[in-house]
Amino acid sequence: MVQFPAFTEKKSTVLPAGANIVFHWEDDFSNDEKKKLITWLNTTSNAAFKLLGNYPFELHFHLYRASSANEPVPWANTIRAGKQGVDFYVNPDFALGDFLKDWTAPHEISHLAIPAVGSDNAWFSEGFASFLQGEILVGMSEFPQEEIDARYQAKRDMAEPFFDSKKPFAKIASRLKRDHDYAALYWGGAGFFAKLDEHLIKTKGIKFAEMLKSYQNCCRLSDQDLDDVVSSFDKISGDAFSTELLYKYRNEKAKDVF
Ligand SMILES: [Zn+2]
Repeated sequence: MVQFPAFTEKKSTVLPAGANIVFHWEDDFSNDEKKKLITWLNTTSNAAFKLLGNYPFELHFHLYRASSANEPVPWANTIRAGKQGVDFYVNPDFALGDFLKDWTAPHEISHLAIPAVGSDNAWFSEGFASFLQGEILVGMSEFPQEEIDARYQAKRDMAEPFFDSKKPFAKIASRLKRDHDYAALYWGGAGFFAKLDEHLIKTKGIKFAEMLKSYQNCCRLSDQDLDDVVSSFDKISGDAFSTELLYKYRNEKAKDVF
């Protein structure tokens, strides 16, 4: 049980030891709003840590007001320069339940489970976060697994025509990024992790998320780029599946790889 600290200070609220989360109040929020936002982000972070392992660094959450937004979290982005964290733009008028059901925080917090792999590899990082966001929401009991699975399939069906090409998957992904076809980019990339998840279940009896728990301990702080990340995945799984899969995504026909 986390005790909420007093909300007298203007900027940061450091949670008790063990939580590894630092809140930065970039705009004015009332004490009730702060309490709601802390509950939301603590609940989501704890679900992420339970699923993906404890992140071996402090998480910094910066909260900004977006009072006119017609959704709880209209915008968010990860912070990757030195400190690891997320900028959240929120409309605190929404209820706690609306925040907890929103996919944005599970998505952004998932991103931080691996290092930044460069904007050229956005299909990988966005696919990673898109694949895991649903698992976190299931872990939080916000959605049943069947609903997340159905949503995943609908998104994959939407993305498939974009990859109906003889050009390499990664090349199509770069074009989608250039053209701002983000949903197709995200859910096209998610297939990489669905394939890896299926492989791990079949060969090791563990899910991809389970493997990430080991990844936090061995490799999260030392890996520097995408090739490091997939070789660490292979080191943990004891085969060459991830490296070979990445090779296919970089070189083989998008329609075959998808
Ligand atoms: Zn993202």
